[in-house]
This record gives sequence, structure tokens and C-alpha cells, in this order.
Amino acid sequence: MEYNMHYGLIKYVDMLDGPGLRVTLFVSGCDNKCKGCHNPESWDPNFGKEFTEETLTEIVKELQNNYYKGFTLCGGDPLYPANRQAVCNIARTIKACFGDSRSIWMYTGYALEEVQSWNDPVVNELFDYVDVVLEGPFIESLKSPDKPWVGSSNQRMFEILHCKGNNTFKFVENENITKSGYLNNNAQTNTCSCCS
Ligand code: SF4
Repeated sequence: MEYNMHYGLIKYVDMLDGPGLRVTLFVSGCDNKCKGCHNPESWDPNFGKEFTEETLTEIVKELQNNYYKGFTLCGGDPLYPANRQAVCNIARTIKACFGDSRSIWMYTGYALEEVQSWNDPVVNELFDYVDVVLEGPFIESLKSPDKPWVGSSNQRMFEILHCKGNNTFKFVENENITKSGYLNNNAQTNTCSCCS
């Protein structure tokens, strides 16, 4: 499979980008250009190495270690237009390999309302696999070191509740995803109330 995407870094045993130990993929390409961004080199979609089938195999192999709680998509921006198909393919594979035993978190600099307004079928498929989305641009004047998982107070965290019964999902804002807690009922991934 062709991915047509570059990445700057794969972080193993990452403790900073979601609960528990995680594998975090920093993809290249971002057009949000937030002032004070910590990774401006990642704005260039050609930064770093080419993502290939071998890269994905390496990530899946690493995630097989049972101390991992999940996989995080970071950047750059996973929803940068040229990255969406590759990111969707990656998340689909990880979900197929691990089911709900590894949560998938995703950072994006776009606000959720904007993402929803695209009504992009690839992004909609991606949300079938993602459990938590952390969204919004980093705003330096709102820098908030105390807010878990994000960099500035405008950025929001949404659980994605998947209804396996009718194959739909909905976003639920949750400010209380703490460093020790996962999601409802201590599960790593969430389903809606009719499926639980
Ligand atoms: S979305 Fe992230 S990578 Fe992109 S400019 Fe903002 S902080 Fe930097």
C-alpha cells in the first residue's frame, strides 16, 4: 500500500501523549502554523522519513508488547489534507490487529467543528477507529501547563463513543481524562450506553 506521507519521529514507550505507555507517531505536514509551535519543522510535508508498509509493521510489532495501552497520532497534523488517507489506513490496521486492547488517540490543530464541516468520508472512517481526539490550534497566550494532555486552554478533548449496534459514533467533550484515568468504567476505549 502507498502511504504518500512522511513522519518525523516514532516515539516508543511514550508517557506524555495519552494514558499509559504508548507508541506515538509524529506525522509531517501542518498548515495551522500556530505561533509558538514546538515542532515547526514538522509543517513541511516532506520532513523526515517516508512512511512505508515496513514502518507500519514495525509499529504493530512494537504494540504487541503487552505493557502498551495505546497508539497516538500526533504531528504535524494527522488531518493535514495529504495525510488523511494514510492516517486512516494506519488506524484501521491498528484497530484490526488490537481491537479495543489498545486505544487510539489523535491530536489535530483543527477545531472539531471545522473537521465535521468537511464531511470528508476518509475522516469519517478514521473516526470509526479513534477513541479520543484532542483538537484546536495551540495558542501561546493561553498556554496551560496544568491542563492534561494539551498545550493551551482552548484545546479540547473529546471521547468518541462508538455505537457498534448501528455503526455510528458521537463526540463527547471530556475535560476529565486524567493521567491515571482512561475513559468510562476504566476501559481504554468507549462504546455508547446501548452497547455497554
Ligand atoms: S497544529 Fe501542532 S504542529 Fe501544527 S502548527 Fe499548531 S502546534 Fe504546530
